[in-house]
Amino acid sequence: MPIKNRISQFENEITKWRHYFHENPEIAYDEKNTAKKVVELLESFKVDKIETGFGQTGVVATIENGSGKSVGLRADMDALPITEENINTKHCSKIKGKMHACGHDGHTAMLLGAAKYLSETRNFKGKVVLIFQPAEEGYAGAKAMIKDGLLSKYPIDAIYGMHNMPGLEKGIIAVEEGPRLAAADNFVVKITGKGSHAAMPSNSIDPILCTSSLIQNLQSIVSRNVNPKETLVITVATFNSGKANNVIPDEATISGTIRYYNKQVGSLAKERFNTIVTNTCKLFGAKAEINIKTGYPPTINHQANSKFAFEVAKKVVGMKASPQQSPMMGSEDFSYFLEKVPGAFAWIGNGNTAPLHNPKYDFNDNVLTIGSSYLSSLAEETLNGS
Ligand SMILES: [Zn+2]
Ligand SMILES: [Zn+2]
Repeated sequence: MPIKNRISQFENEITKWRHYFHENPEIAYDEKNTAKKVVELLESFKVDKIETGFGQTGVVATIENGSGKSVGLRADMDALPITEENINTKHCSKIKGKMHACGHDGHTAMLLGAAKYLSETRNFKGKVVLIFQPAEEGYAGAKAMIKDGLLSKYPIDAIYGMHNMPGLEKGIIAVEEGPRLAAADNFVVKITGKGSHAAMPSNSIDPILCTSSLIQNLQSIVSRNVNPKETLVITVATFNSGKANNVIPDEATISGTIRYYNKQVGSLAKERFNTIVTNTCKLFGAKAEINIKTGYPPTINHQANSKFAFEVAKKVVGMKASPQQSPMMGSEDFSYFLEKVPGAFAWIGNGNTAPLHNPKYDFNDNVLTIGSSYLSSLAEETLNGS
């Protein structure tokens, strides 16, 4: 079972859809035109049921054949607020300031390719639930769809998703159990001291000196509080304070991110974060206002589904199926589905292209039929298996 012949026959169509989405990018919860195009295509494939408005702009469709298990296949539809720089590419974004720089155009096109094939062939017993999700890029579209009753209205036994990966050889499908992407919590801390003339520092409580010390102290969480075999990132990404070279300011603000795979490590990190910030500020006589916002949970692939998905990938791409690809510290809201339903998230190699979220990035059209075949095969093998 390599790339499905029938899917290869309509490769041009899948490519055309991908280019249409690329030219007309829409960002979080604004994917109205994208959803409309998805619905039009699903109607033309004669799927059984289409429902719109899940998580505002999400689309759910089903393809059924008798009774049996039910499997969910998910693609994300949103673009990013980036101005594309591939101006010589024919399908370059038509909208300044918006761009499919994460390849969700390709993900949507691949799932549509699978939908067309599965609706036409129906070589399975049971139900395929197609999930076209909005707002993956920071606005938790997956969570919004679940909140709108997606999983209660369309119960599924397993769920699969995939993401392209620049730098990974074109067409490799990498799927492995365990942590794939990290949890991502974000923090903002406001440090309030007391301003003064820069030449009279003893009249001040210097928030810049206090914050400098604070940033150093925060580094001890990763190096001294967490088991070295665990993974944790604490990055202070902004530090803002002061306006003039002769004034010690009143305040400083830092912001950044805390990333981890293991929720216990995350709890420990946040507890230590609070203690270190509060006590360092106390030491300097300053006050701290801490705001930690919980972001996406870690993306943890389920063991049995990962093994199964790897076997399916092997049948589609042979030696290009990989059980090993290092987990990353990025985050992905497919994690919300994996907290509720067993499943697996795979990488598909985009080849040697510009990285994700880069204005020169483009999805690799050569992997579209591979992705559609992989998704279709996951559905067929899930629903035809024991
Ligand atoms: Zn992204
Ligand atoms: Zn993405």
